Amino acid sequence: MLDQKVVKLLNEQINKEFFSAYLYLDIAGYFADQGLDGFENWFKIQAMEERDHAMLFRQYLLNNGYRVHLTAIADPSKQYDSAKAAFEESLKHEQYVTASINTIYSAAESVKDYRTMQFLDWFVKEQGEEEKNAEDNLRKIELVGDKGHSLYMLDHAIGARTYSPPSLDLD
Ligand code: MG
Repeated sequence: MLDQKVVKLLNEQINKEFFSAYLYLDIAGYFADQGLDGFENWFKIQAMEERDHAMLFRQYLLNNGYRVHLTAIADPSKQYDSAKAAFEESLKHEQYVTASINTIYSAAESVKDYRTMQFLDWFVKEQGEEEKNAEDNLRKIELVGDKGHSLYMLDHAIGARTYSPPSLDLD
């Protein structure tokens, strides 16, 4: 038996992770439109990771005997006036997700739900990596600028990313 408030937060996190996937797919679309295939690839892979995160929260609830409720995913469409603006959005979003994971962790801790805390440990570490990746990308853009030849070179470098499934496997 998990605490009802913890179950509710875990269920809401599924939607937040799918929204993250949507947001990053929208950013990938922005970069595709700009002809920056490397950045498009990076955000497409990021979207796949977010879907994986959603599926992990789903599986955790199922493994604990709960019916999962999927809810509508908000429209992620945004206008970006530069590559830097899109990368800034991704950093801001990861900071928001970190706060959300921390909220669930606090709720689990307050009812001594050590099982959920242990499950969330993976996400606490993951969010550290997500924020670092977003900060690194932003720092690189700030370093070389987001125009012309330097942007094209950075697109190549960042675009070399390949997808690998999450190290946490629940089923
Ligand atoms: Mg995530």
